[in-house]
Amino acid sequence: MDEPSIAAHARTHFTSYCHLVGTCMMGEDDAAVVDSQLRVRGLAGLRVADASVIPSIPSGNTNATVYAIAERAAELLRGA
Ligand SMILES: Cc1cc2nc3c(=O)[nH]c(=O)nc-3n(C[C@H](O)[C@H](O)[C@H](O)COP(=O)(O)OP(=O)(O)OC[C@H]3O[C@@H](n4cnc5c(N)ncnc54)[C@H](O)[C@@H]3O)c2cc1C
Repeated sequence: MDEPSIAAHARTHFTSYCHLVGTCMMGEDDAAVVDSQLRVRGLAGLRVADASVIPSIPSGNTNATVYAIAERAAELLRGA
């Protein structure tokens, strides 16, 4: 199978499988939207705590990761 055929096959058959992540990527570099404390860079008093901060697409399901992010966000807000 040649490369254009593989690309056409991928476009036709592959989907996100409902585990979208990363639109507010967490990290410490310039491309990151939130830092490791879930704070939006450049804005005071705003955090993001959902699947959007997961910095790269995980190979498994995402729901447990979102619960872990939520637990961590609660700790951060309590100052723990
Ligand atoms: C069909 C499907 C099946 C899935 N199955 C699994 C699975 O089996 N196992 C697994 O681990 N993961 C599964 N996932 C993925 C998992 O559900 C998500 O990763 C997780 O729910 C993401 O959590 P979240 O808090 O980022 O977003 P969401 O759970 O989407 O929460 C966003 C919330 O924000 C609310 N909202 C949106 N806009 C506004 C607004 N303007 N104002 C106020 N509220 C707003 C929405 O109503 C919603 O309650 C599945 C996802 C889908 C779609």
